[in-house]
Amino acid sequence: MRDIFWTVVAVFATIILIPILLIQSCDIQKEPTKKIVESNKTVRVYINKTREIEKIDLEEYIKGVVSSEMPAAFNIEALKAQAIAARSYATARKDTYKEDGHPGHPGAELCDGVHCQAYKSKEDLKELKGKKWMEDYWPKIEKAVEETKGLVITYSGEPINQPLFHSTSGGKTENSEDVFSASVPYLRSVESPYEAKAPHCEDQQIVSIKTFVSKIKNRYKDCDIVEGNIKSDLKILERSTGGRILKIQVGNKILRGRDIRDIVGLRSANFKVRMGGGDLIFDTIGYGHGVGMSQWGANGMAERGSTFEEILKHYYVGVEIEKMK
Ligand SMILES: [Zn+2]
Repeated sequence: MRDIFWTVVAVFATIILIPILLIQSCDIQKEPTKKIVESNKTVRVYINKTREIEKIDLEEYIKGVVSSEMPAAFNIEALKAQAIAARSYATARKDTYKEDGHPGHPGAELCDGVHCQAYKSKEDLKELKGKKWMEDYWPKIEKAVEETKGLVITYSGEPINQPLFHSTSGGKTENSEDVFSASVPYLRSVESPYEAKAPHCEDQQIVSIKTFVSKIKNRYKDCDIVEGNIKSDLKILERSTGGRILKIQVGNKILRGRDIRDIVGLRSANFKVRMGGGDLIFDTIGYGHGVGMSQWGANGMAERGSTFEEILKHYYVGVEIEKMK
């Protein structure tokens, strides 16, 4: 009887268990191949907090960028446009810095700060935004990224390396050379008509004349602006197509609107300035540098039925949306 039992056990082991173990070991052997395939689609990201470089799957990285760069409550088509912009940037960076990484963070083509584009891992998002946000919005972010998988913005057949964006243009975006130094063919000034819901479309910031003068003098030691003479010492001389100030007279110096924006901490370089008591009152229009895609404008277009492709082709002039090679 005992012999029969052991015979049954032996037969069971031969017929059932060994094949199962073989199949499992085949699976284990297959795994490295899969990893090699995936590594072509990863990006190297320098994490500022840990000072370490992480290899992240490109599409997972894009999810972490969209979550960090655009309000998740925005329309899904706007989120898709943001995902494609982020993917284009990452792809262009990868192409340019594929060997040694970016000089600002050797070994990695990207970092997780605003130096490149803001990124947060799913775990960090969970901690930062909480359980409810993850339940309400993470699936939407995943959908926006997955439904645009592999798509990038191209100009002359290459992924664009400057898919710049900003919060709110204030009605019109800017030509790149009016804000930064280079003229980029797809970064042209265009109308951005649907920004009415943006919280800082029109805003007011007040700074005391005393603080303003001391901040200016701190930055420009040779500036002769004086508190008592501010009315004639401050004169707007020239504006860009989009409305931002190109030249402003400040005492004996001619500065750019963006210099004043930096020094005072204004939301935009598109402003009017007047005196009120001992203060300077800045009425600002828009939020951010104004070049490329306006995020609130993109959301406004999406709410009126525009697709991600229509949004991107509106804000980046002469581009195509194509599958990555
Ligand atoms: Zn960086």
